[in-house]
Amino acid sequence: MATHQKRKLAEGRKHQNMQNDTKASQGQWGRAWEVDSFSLASILFLLMFAPLTVYYFIMSCTHYQCALTDPLLDLLTGNKHLSDIWNRTPMLTYRAAGIYFLWVTFQVVLYVFIPDFCHKFLPGYVGGVQEGAVTPAGVVNKYEINGLQAWIITHVLWFANASCFHFFSPTIIFDNWIPLLWCANILGYAVSTLAMIKGYFFPTNAKDCKFTGNFFYDYMMGIEFNPRIGKWFDFKLFFNGRPGIVAWTLINLSFAAKQQELYSEVTNSMILVNVLQGIYVLDFFWNEAWYLKTIDICHDHFGWYLGWGDCVWLPYLYTLQGLYLVYHPVQLCTTHAIGVLILGLLGYYIFRTTNHQKDLFRRTNGNCRIWGKKPEYIECSYMSVDGTKYYSKLMTSGFWGWARHFNYTGDLMGSLAYCLACGFEHILPYFYIIYMTILLTHRCIRDEHRCSSKYGKDWKRYTAAVPHRLLPGIF
Ligand code: NDP
Repeated sequence: MATHQKRKLAEGRKHQNMQNDTKASQGQWGRAWEVDSFSLASILFLLMFAPLTVYYFIMSCTHYQCALTDPLLDLLTGNKHLSDIWNRTPMLTYRAAGIYFLWVTFQVVLYVFIPDFCHKFLPGYVGGVQEGAVTPAGVVNKYEINGLQAWIITHVLWFANASCFHFFSPTIIFDNWIPLLWCANILGYAVSTLAMIKGYFFPTNAKDCKFTGNFFYDYMMGIEFNPRIGKWFDFKLFFNGRPGIVAWTLINLSFAAKQQELYSEVTNSMILVNVLQGIYVLDFFWNEAWYLKTIDICHDHFGWYLGWGDCVWLPYLYTLQGLYLVYHPVQLCTTHAIGVLILGLLGYYIFRTTNHQKDLFRRTNGNCRIWGKKPEYIECSYMSVDGTKYYSKLMTSGFWGWARHFNYTGDLMGSLAYCLACGFEHILPYFYIIYMTILLTHRCIRDEHRCSSKYGKDWKRYTAAVPHRLLPGIF
């Protein structure tokens, strides 16, 4: 991969002086420089309401048995005041602060101080030092890919504790869920604020910073592209890939343990949620090197959106199904359970295969076979800030010939499966599929906007060849 990247750079530089002919149709890629009023309004809305939304969902479960509309109805009918709800909410505790501090510190230690050894004995796994994509300023960052190792060590210790050592109860996460929420918020705001200050005063790479001049936009969407402390502590990889995602499976295990404690059994729905989400998380770590080529790392700057989102939104809202099942232990009939399993696995298969096809195609520069044939593609070019011209290819066969983001479609099928595992009694567990549909549709449009300004007329040729975004023939 490293050799390919170097070849790409060299090839790009070779063509540096041949750029004027296509300059008019190419833009520089990256975040918007000018903030329109709609974006600003959306950002202000999110900054104000996203933390409230997380609180509302969790509180609906802890205070109202996951009945999402009940708190609102209580407030609107005057049955309860805000203060009544707030007074019943557990506050920050020293215990939660201690747990959270130890958790994050442990993940930092695993990330920074333990070089990857998994790639030495796991065939097919790509770990250790890897290169990211070329940034808009033409930089290629190096990353220590050791997330799988961190995940394995953490989970081995978790199971060792649960079965042998008994230092703490496996229900510890559930038992401290709201106090831990305050800790996650403190870290989320702290890291976003630090990223903003760092972007102004000591950026890692000044050329990859974007200042729109709008404080809220910069805070939310980030200034620095790849903020780092020292050589290896990369904010984006750490906060995106650790403590939230490693915690995801532990949180689900803690919910399963709570079900066992409360009802002396773990329902098949809880097992399905643990297994399907576990596959998704494990897939993320197995493919962490691939993750370096996704939008989060290749295009997004690091601000509140990623910093707070990874610390709070992800661990709290992506795990709602497990939380719900603690309050409503659903035992599915065999047909329902098998249906959910098939949908989840099929969604995962599409998600992974589509991502794999693009990764293979890009890694081999199109010299590979997709579904037994040489891939079809469109040649395209783009420019970085310093005017260097690069060449790339957009695949138009395999799943990438079905739709421009069929990986999102697979992801959505998997997301729906988690929700369907919870039965049909309440809307709360369906938040995930509603959110993912909005997120991935918006992400699809955002990505296409960026690709259009990056590739110009070449992008138009591509969209003419693959006309649909998510669903062939429909959207
Ligand atoms: P993609 O992996 O689809 O990457 C999009 C990029 O791929 C484009 O910007 C472009 O980059 C390149 N590209 C687009 N079309 C082609 C093509 N035809 N051939 C080759 N390259 C192409 O998107 P994401 O990074 O958003 O998503 C990665 C995965 O992560 C997805 O499966 C998604 O479902 C999942 N995801 C999950 C989330 C969650 O919260 N659970 C959130 C977000 C994503 P370039 O500039 O290099 O050409």
